[in-house]
Amino acid sequence: MIEPRVLDTSALISWAVDSLEGGYVVRKQREEVRRVAPDRAMSVEAARLNWTEPTLDSLERAREIASETGDLDGLSETDLEIFALLIQTGGHLFSDDYRLQNLCVATGMSWSAVDSEGISGIWNWQIRCSACGDVVSGHGRTRRAGEGLGECEKCGSEMKISRKR
Ligand SMILES: [Zn+2]
Repeated sequence: MIEPRVLDTSALISWAVDSLEGGYVVRKQREEVRRVAPDRAMSVEAARLNWTEPTLDSLERAREIASETGDLDGLSETDLEIFALLIQTGGHLFSDDYRLQNLCVATGMSWSAVDSEGISGIWNWQIRCSACGDVVSGHGRTRRAGEGLGECEKCGSEMKISRKR
């Protein structure tokens, strides 16, 4: 069985959408992506991620461990939930956050830096007008945060991105 991959928000923002597939994330990260990289939110929605809510038990354990290691004060609520999800799934964490990495070391959980994989993946995408349904499709690298999808050439409505089937 493949070890579940738990992804922090920097992975959600910088990885190719294909590389995100099957990853475990907490629901709070959705808001974080919208806040930090609003243009990336659509790609993240198109990825097949496992949006999860950590159990109260694993959250409590995460809080205990983080307070023992002295990392609790510096952890955001989202990071704490990500760590709880990691404990819960027994997975492998991808994060550049040194506090989360420290918690992994302290508990013997496996982790990697975000930059170590997935950055240059290729995926098939489709951009569709939300009003008239006009489609633009292509094959290329993931759009980086900051690149808007623009407006429909036919009717001027908002364009939405999705994976091509
Ligand atoms: Zn249109």
